[in-house]
Amino acid sequence: MGHIQNKDYSQRDFDPIVRDGEELISTHCCFCGMQCGMNIRVKIADQTVVGVEPRYDFPMNGGRLCPKGVAAYRQAELGDRLKTPLIRKNGKLEPATWDEAMDLIVSKIQDIQGKYGKDAFGIYSGSSMTNEKCYLMGKFARIGLGTKNIDYNGRYCMSSASVGFNQSIGIDRGSTNPWSDIKFADVLLIAGSNTAECHPLSMPYIWGARDRGAKLIVVDPRQTKTALVADVHLDIRPGTDVAIANGLLHVMIEENLVDQEFIDNHTTGYEELKELVKKYTPSHVSEITGVSVDKIVTAARIFGQAKNGMTMFARGVEQHATGTDSVSNYVNLCLVTGKMGRKGSGVATFTGQGNGQGGREHGQKTDQLPGFRKITDPKAREYIAGVWGVEESEIPGPGLSAFEMLQALGKEIKGLLLVCSNPIVSSPTVKDVGGYLKDLDFFVCMDMFLSESAELADVVLPSTVWVEDNGTMTNVEGRVLRVKGVDRTPGETKRDWKIICELAERLGRGKYFQFNSPEDIFNELRVASKGGIADYYGITYEKLEKMQGVFWPCPTEESEGMPRLFEDLRFNFPDGKARILAFEHKGPNEKTSKEYPVILSTGRVVFHYLSGNQTRRIETLRNFCPDPYVEIHPSLAKKYNISNGETVKVSSPRGSIELVAKITKITREDMVFVPYHWGKELAINHLTNPALEPKSKIPEFKVCAVKLEKTSAVVGENHG
Ligand code: SF4
Repeated sequence: MGHIQNKDYSQRDFDPIVRDGEELISTHCCFCGMQCGMNIRVKIADQTVVGVEPRYDFPMNGGRLCPKGVAAYRQAELGDRLKTPLIRKNGKLEPATWDEAMDLIVSKIQDIQGKYGKDAFGIYSGSSMTNEKCYLMGKFARIGLGTKNIDYNGRYCMSSASVGFNQSIGIDRGSTNPWSDIKFADVLLIAGSNTAECHPLSMPYIWGARDRGAKLIVVDPRQTKTALVADVHLDIRPGTDVAIANGLLHVMIEENLVDQEFIDNHTTGYEELKELVKKYTPSHVSEITGVSVDKIVTAARIFGQAKNGMTMFARGVEQHATGTDSVSNYVNLCLVTGKMGRKGSGVATFTGQGNGQGGREHGQKTDQLPGFRKITDPKAREYIAGVWGVEESEIPGPGLSAFEMLQALGKEIKGLLLVCSNPIVSSPTVKDVGGYLKDLDFFVCMDMFLSESAELADVVLPSTVWVEDNGTMTNVEGRVLRVKGVDRTPGETKRDWKIICELAERLGRGKYFQFNSPEDIFNELRVASKGGIADYYGITYEKLEKMQGVFWPCPTEESEGMPRLFEDLRFNFPDGKARILAFEHKGPNEKTSKEYPVILSTGRVVFHYLSGNQTRRIETLRNFCPDPYVEIHPSLAKKYNISNGETVKVSSPRGSIELVAKITKITREDMVFVPYHWGKELAINHLTNPALEPKSKIPEFKVCAVKLEKTSAVVGENHG
């Protein structure tokens, strides 16, 4: 299969301008799964990072960057970067030498594991790191520490998409199609994704489809900037995705808008679905979702009648206690209408974290070994043991998932290594999480800034930032990319992979971590992934540079990767058939009540990234959006006598937070929306529900029940 050079919306080939005394380093943005191409401008004399230029040669963004991408480079020179190890002494974090810090860490690990067993030391890792680092974390946990307890913050992001894709089509690649296929769709159904704010550089692809006459259906409780330009906006009540998809399926089946030949030859389970959705009539679904019958029928007809189409979704669908059901149900829309395996037809999830895709492929998930292998699969264990040079019995089994691990701190987990993550902002019930972290016997954190979580650590290790990184990342399409960095380690900072290798050495496990470069690690990752679902074996650094990235699977050195999956219409199950799965609507875990009558939903804004540990420090981004706020519909605001700019106490059964009111028709009348990028007293996750999706273990961030109380008059002029 040929490599797809998707230069379809920008044919410009601008040579980058290199200013006197500067050099350009060609890399990719650290924020969001688009992984836009950019050149970092570096002053040669002192290797300081002074600017950024978008790359015209990288097909994904074709010379564009969003506000976050433009500002990202600024974090490299921020004054509050961590530049020396810190050790807590008399309650305060104080500068220390690397030797002091590493000696302390090693003695604490040995002490804890000696007293309580290997699994008593856990690792909570991150998905914004390179593939090399993510792979290394999984290997270090299993054979450096010998613990089963490693998981990662991607558990909070794409894990429902991962389970949903696996159970429906047998493979968890964020998109079955390259992004260049989007413009060939005749219909795009985008659910639970404010693409315009969260993945802004996807919008040109959507416009490309619109230019060809494609229809846009948006499923979202809010009239987001994406919903504003839709042909049909299905403004569902939060937590009713399964029902709306069942309603669309009902209409398409009733009106014979399905592809029976595709269903018969390439799927199983259709009859069960047909039976189940009989009762999901438009009027019944309208009652559940709050969407008008007319809109449900119109959307179903548009989707069913289109020759090519894609369903695309994000956290709005996935971060629910029934998130995996919803994902599979949106996949069903494409399966029953035969929209798979060709240009403009397929399914995708918008990857939130920079390396949300690669970060979940190579072993830092607790239930997984490299190449998307299951840690419980005897053959997979045998193979990876061979690659690592250990006995199969030395590889632990599955441990606890991310939030379960946090809940176990101070109990079965006594020590924790936290890497590139800020769970005290990003987890539900953050106050409890703070308590769990304080309950640890020993807490060590690797980060580039003193995040809210790092502030609680016993030892903080200063690592490098993204513009100093070398390695690979995997973008939203499943395209593996080469990232490059400035060759420097400011102050006493060290590269994360070197810190891990040094720790392994000091723990007496150094022979398994003899890496001299990220490329060394990648070459072992290639072998470890060989024969797995996410097979990187045929990918080399050289090939990545020549081809502007390579789509996995790429099983041989001759292969150019696979941009579009399922062109042969064989899905990744032994019989080659996709699974049409039928799900009843169950609704959110926490329902509104007399005491808590309003639905709270949370999400992102364009100017910030995840817990805000990086973006809140960048002045330009902070100025655009300095504080969180609560969006309230005018009619709901009237009920509570709340005016624009007044402060409102928002409370759930778990906690309260005071926020400035933003009165807007964007949100539904029965809900409020709050962005989640702030910590401490401004963390909306004080309120969110820790109920986990049973299969993906993602917390239900998108829905909980709250009450509103006006607490003061207008506090500022910037919230109009
Ligand atoms: Fe960076 Fe995503 Fe913006 Fe591209 S769209 S510049 S990857 S944040």
